[in-house]
Amino acid sequence: MTALLQALRACVGPSQVLTEGDLSAWELDWRKRFRGRALAVVRPADTAQVAAVLQACAAHGASVVPQGGNTGLVGGGVPDASGTQVLLSLTRLNRIRAIDRANLTLTAEAGCVLQAVQQAAAEAGLLFPLSLAAEGSCTIGGNLATNAGGTQVLRFGNARELCLGLEVVTADGQVWDGLSGLRKDNTGYDLRDLFIGSEGTLGIITAATLKLHPRPAASGTALAATGSLAQCVGLLQLAQARLGAGLTGFEVMNRFALELVARHFPSLPRPLPAAPWTVLLEQADSEGEAPARARFEALLAAALEEGLIDDAVVAESLQQSQALWHLRESIPLAQAQEGPNIKHDIALPVSAIPDFVARTDAALARAFPGVRLVDFGHLGDGNLHYNVQAPEGQDAAQFLAQQEHAVNTLVYDAVAAVGGSISAEHGVGALKREELAQRKPAVALQMMRAIKQALDPQHRLNPGRVL
Ligand code: FAD
Ligand code: ZN
Repeated sequence: MTALLQALRACVGPSQVLTEGDLSAWELDWRKRFRGRALAVVRPADTAQVAAVLQACAAHGASVVPQGGNTGLVGGGVPDASGTQVLLSLTRLNRIRAIDRANLTLTAEAGCVLQAVQQAAAEAGLLFPLSLAAEGSCTIGGNLATNAGGTQVLRFGNARELCLGLEVVTADGQVWDGLSGLRKDNTGYDLRDLFIGSEGTLGIITAATLKLHPRPAASGTALAATGSLAQCVGLLQLAQARLGAGLTGFEVMNRFALELVARHFPSLPRPLPAAPWTVLLEQADSEGEAPARARFEALLAAALEEGLIDDAVVAESLQQSQALWHLRESIPLAQAQEGPNIKHDIALPVSAIPDFVARTDAALARAFPGVRLVDFGHLGDGNLHYNVQAPEGQDAAQFLAQQEHAVNTLVYDAVAAVGGSISAEHGVGALKREELAQRKPAVALQMMRAIKQALDPQHRLNPGRVL
């Protein structure tokens, strides 16, 4: 191991190979559920150094765990407890390499923080629409490695749909330059799409060419109170019919999710009284402020008339709009403050969601009396964060230790019954690996293993994750 450490120091310089002191920023995940120990945290500065590190690790048979902002929620980016894995932090690869306004593309290195990519696009008068609550610390490499979703998927798609090309360092340390900004390229298998969503198990993403969009002339945000999820789905249909592609986000939050936000962030304004479900709508408009607002208000008036909503507010300023989003984005943080919880990041046909939630809520309440449900998420994409918090007053860690498996079985069986997915946007990581092995069709697993074997025959890239 000392020989490997020496080789790593030669690759990136001694000061960028960390082996001592508090390494918890890299070794402990965001939810504090996975804590590992790395042989070393290695911080290369550019693609050539990443390639050199991968070559050194290959020569010494060491496994490599890539990491970006360490905001992942499935334990995929922290090392295991063996003390033998090299934690490869990509955060120093943080340059915006190019912006091509006419081609509507931006090329960024993997360690660029998502917000910095959004800002670079904005400075060029364009829009990079990927947006999620962790955008101030997650990296574009991590976003692509997990095929992140977020709040604008309804209109712009997830990370995969926003990526036109990748630069990747392979398991044996070769560099693949696939940074084309082409919108059409049918020259064989789509290698880019293999790496997107592969969670660090097939190669190291070092840069990406991203798709930009024109900036909308105006945007708007509204909050609406409804009595049921069925009404939320009705409102979604109405909003899609009236706003078309102008509808960019459609988020729902149940009463308890917003109660937790009020409990842990009491200073945040609550513009509407508590309701069983609250919807956050976002629109973009190419015509301008006044027509956008008129369309939004007409939509909400129609929804009131049809009995789909009980009350609504439209943000009057950017500040108010940000305050509404702040409510939504504070839910994961409020949940974390409340204590450990069981997260389910599920995808279902939108039409199946009201019935799924009613039946699964009831089944959970029967099986685990007093259990509290924090349901929120991207209803417009059919993606719910269907999270289970221990009963009030009960030790949350103990509840998790005793019941997590049973809760997961109940929820994931219900998901499977309606043809849903057990991971909509967070990935598989270490958390859902066994669940995936049980639930994914055998033929699909066989093909996934064949791909892994072809690209990483010694299983040194993020072993024990996904497969
Ligand atoms: P990390 O956590 O560092 O890594 C994630 C995975 O990607 C790991 O398996 C790691 O090995 C791999 N990886 C990282 N960088 C690379 C690379 N350069 N090459 C190869 N593999 C790599 N996710 C959503 O999809 N939608 C949301 O709305 C959302 N909201 C969130 C809100 C909060 C408050 C938090 C904490 C997280 C949220 N997430 C969400 C999850 C997380 O932010 C995303 O998965 C994000 O894309 C991870 O980026 P990261 O840079 O932090 O990656
Ligand atoms: Zn989400």
